[in-house]
Amino acid sequence: MNIIIVGAGASGMTAAISAAQSGKNNKIFMIEHDDRVGKKILSTGNGKCNLTNENMSSDKYRCSDITVVDKVLNKFGYKETIDFFEKLGLIFKNRDGYIYPYSGQASSVLDVLRMKCSELGVDILTGVKPLHIKVSNDSYIIEYIEDDKKKNIRADRLIIATGSPASNISGADNSGYKLIKELGIKVNNVLPALTGLRSSNSFCKAMAGVRCDGTVSLYVDNVFVSGDTGEIQLTDYGISGIPVFQISRFASIALNEGKRVVAKIDFIPHLSTDELKTIFKNKQINCPQKSMDEQLIGVLNKKVAGVILKRYGNDIYKIIEGIKSFEFDIQATNPFEQSQIATGGIDVSQINFDTMESKKFKKLYFAGEIIDVDGICGGYNLQWAWATGYIAGRNAAK
Ligand SMILES: Cc1cc2nc3c(=O)[nH]c(=O)nc-3n(C[C@H](O)[C@H](O)[C@H](O)COP(=O)(O)OP(=O)(O)OC[C@H]3O[C@@H](n4cnc5c(N)ncnc54)[C@H](O)[C@@H]3O)c2cc1C
Repeated sequence: MNIIIVGAGASGMTAAISAAQSGKNNKIFMIEHDDRVGKKILSTGNGKCNLTNENMSSDKYRCSDITVVDKVLNKFGYKETIDFFEKLGLIFKNRDGYIYPYSGQASSVLDVLRMKCSELGVDILTGVKPLHIKVSNDSYIIEYIEDDKKKNIRADRLIIATGSPASNISGADNSGYKLIKELGIKVNNVLPALTGLRSSNSFCKAMAGVRCDGTVSLYVDNVFVSGDTGEIQLTDYGISGIPVFQISRFASIALNEGKRVVAKIDFIPHLSTDELKTIFKNKQINCPQKSMDEQLIGVLNKKVAGVILKRYGNDIYKIIEGIKSFEFDIQATNPFEQSQIATGGIDVSQINFDTMESKKFKKLYFAGEIIDVDGICGGYNLQWAWATGYIAGRNAAK
């Protein structure tokens, strides 16, 4: 039986390994349109690859039906990921639950996956661009271009693992969704996520370069949607950093729907408004001679203080309001090239998550980010890729 996997990234390579390990008489091919396999893995975790997280649960994922995430993680969760990679030869570094290869090199993860594929006799075809997938009786015909020639290959079982257009890596594009849409499978809007937010406010330039611990809260049409705390980066285009990444998918969806998006930053989240009022009252008693900008020294970064003073004048109550809830009008997210993942993709109603098989077409499976499930930062997106890849591969090989 021919098992073909389209897309040789994190989920595709895992699918190839589990398919090869699950059935002896199968011939397994991986079709990759880029010149090399698994390029995106190399840039994960700033080149260190945060491959999973000890604190694994479905509440780290966003999806229209979170029970499907539970289903997948129950079959292949944190422990199974560790076990899988241990058997491939990795040992790990655990940083507050965030798991990395001990070498600190994402290339180690790609190397062990490639080596296992090769050991198991997986046939990897790179530089092969699929044009269409045709359903033919009980199998699939993939029409593709190789060396400028049109060719066909038949799959008894087909796994689509083509990822998303996120990142600036060659190979990351929308072509996988196109193949799937041609089969009449429902694909939801694919939008940038885990990315920075762009603002039209002119004060951004004046605060560019500042990194500060704060809380960012996202409001869509004046309603609070999501928030996160951590190191926020103020940039000339808007705001970035992990807390901003975590909420960016909500901004992406709302902006796409033409809604008003505002991000509010609390620059001193661990002090309440009343506590700040007391602090400033005491400052005025202790140092009455100091001007307002002098009172802000040691409280706020100088660039941030300058912008807040310009905006709110010398009114201490307004200044405190600005410190606790500084508004950025969000016009856009960063583009896919500067995003880690996409939100959107194959609607979860289209898939049987016990097997990752399409509900519409038998013997067609999906894996990875191409599915409309997105995780927060912290190893959750790769976990989704390994888990769905493993389940798809095993079931395809049955
Ligand atoms: C900068 C960056 C840092 C990240 N860091 C982390 C991290 O530390 N931890 C974490 O959990 N996640 C991280 N992610 C997210 C993670 O990399 C992805 O969620 C994961 O790689 C998705 O796996 P996948 O197999 O679905 O897609 P991919 O790994 O993108 O693989 C898809 C493959 O399919 C190929 N392909 C696409 N279309 C076609 C086609 N039509 N025909 C043939 N081949 C095709 C692509 O070239 C690619 O090789 C990061 C992402 C980025 C961009």
